[in-house]
Amino acid sequence: MSFTLATMLRESRLAAPDKVLCHFGDTSFTYAQVDEVSGRVAASLLALGLRRGDKVAVHLPNLPQFLFTYFGILKAGLVMVPLNPLLRAAEITYHLSDSDSRLLITFESFAPEAAKAASEVDVPLYVVTTPGNAQPAGTHHFDELYSSADTGDLVPTNADDTAVLLYTSGTTGRPKGAELTHFQLYMNCTVSGELFGFRDDDIGVAVLPLFHVFGLSSVLNVAVRYAGTVVLVPRFDAGAVLDAIERHRCTVFSGVPTMYHALAHADLGGRDLSSLRVGSSGGAAIPGETIRAFEEKFPGVVILEGYGLSETASTATFNRSAEERKVLSIGKPIWGVEVRVVDEFDRPLPPGPDHVGEIVIRGHNLMKGYYKRPEATEEAFRGGWFHTGDLAYADEDGYFFIVDRKKDLIIRGGYNVYPREIEEVLYEHPAVGEAAVIGRPDEKLGEEVVAVVSTTGEVTPEEIVAYCRERLAAYKYPREVRIVGELPKGPTGKILKKELR
Ligand code: AMP
Repeated sequence: MSFTLATMLRESRLAAPDKVLCHFGDTSFTYAQVDEVSGRVAASLLALGLRRGDKVAVHLPNLPQFLFTYFGILKAGLVMVPLNPLLRAAEITYHLSDSDSRLLITFESFAPEAAKAASEVDVPLYVVTTPGNAQPAGTHHFDELYSSADTGDLVPTNADDTAVLLYTSGTTGRPKGAELTHFQLYMNCTVSGELFGFRDDDIGVAVLPLFHVFGLSSVLNVAVRYAGTVVLVPRFDAGAVLDAIERHRCTVFSGVPTMYHALAHADLGGRDLSSLRVGSSGGAAIPGETIRAFEEKFPGVVILEGYGLSETASTATFNRSAEERKVLSIGKPIWGVEVRVVDEFDRPLPPGPDHVGEIVIRGHNLMKGYYKRPEATEEAFRGGWFHTGDLAYADEDGYFFIVDRKKDLIIRGGYNVYPREIEEVLYEHPAVGEAAVIGRPDEKLGEEVVAVVSTTGEVTPEEIVAYCRERLAAYKYPREVRIVGELPKGPTGKILKKELR
């Protein structure tokens, strides 16, 4: 048994060659097709002179070509560097040069920015174009990467070779490349898929971006590991997701809380969505109210919340099933992974809501380190445990509850205010759509608590302040409420507090 991601595709292909691996619009690709096309990509990349360990940057939305290049890169023994297609030229340049990428692959709509970056660092650019559209000047056509007739043998790869360099801001500083090995990614999809009860007849919605760990590991890798199917949806839109579920009889949905919120309040338009059986939520804390509203709208579907980071190859903890879950908890550690809550001196804290500390993790899912950043790696792994920057407590049953991110903590007049607690109250207000609570610098108090909300009905900021005041201690409730049209969101749909601040 080999724990590499390329052999994982090959094993599922051997088990189910004619099974559809991915649907995209009106096209579908079977396991045999993805295996063959990615084999040709691998052979073409090797023919270009790339060698084991070289990096290839993939700047693509959720398209079938993402799968062809991902598995092609891995089969050739290379390392994939997935990039958010919305990055601007200067950001792409940073990522290409920091990761030492030798080649960049993009989609036509993102080619202008990608081309500037590629010429800046002098790497060849391959562009996926739709039929009938012109090839941008000075670029290579993506089809050249299929040119090899050879569908390739797998280049021997060790389980502890780096497979993916995933850029993340981590807890501080500029984006750093988390080096994830074949083994770490293979184990994570194996264990989390098993705990989740993912089966070969499951059909997942792949709307979470595949360039992010949640989409890549918990959606795509899990499906391939268990010979299931994914439906690629390039951009989140509630209608598009509901159409995909109805059309392909999807059984599993994985999303961030803002997606569940949108689906819970969407017009279902008489669609038959009865195939859906389970949802997994992660990336940010899901408000209890969102779970309630979603499960009421989709009877029989249960949302299971999990928790993890880019550095943990996706999942670290998970609520296993409807019977075992605790709402508002991130669940229990997955098999082979240890999670602790520690104080500022790294001493383990006992269970109980009064013992809030930082989550630290160790186990098979931890990255090798940050690429070319030994100091940041050493700092993150001090004492042998990976420090997440997330604040939490455990209960007597071994469930963990995230209180907030360390850097989102507001200190008002010397008291710790956890924005999440206030957000839970805001989400219960009938006229509040989405909510985020942030700290604003204040001369007297150090920080003042400010709520930024979108609304779904008539309500004034004063009414929202009064609502919170009735339900929260005096030092916590927001003194200021700002109503906005929409909250700023990152690529996965997480609300960006940094921008609000
Ligand atoms: P990323 O590396 O982009 O996946 O971001 C990881 C961060 O997302 C974690 O450090 C947490 O702050 C946050 N996160 C992930 N899952 C959850 C969750 N279930 N509840 C609260 N925060 C979460």
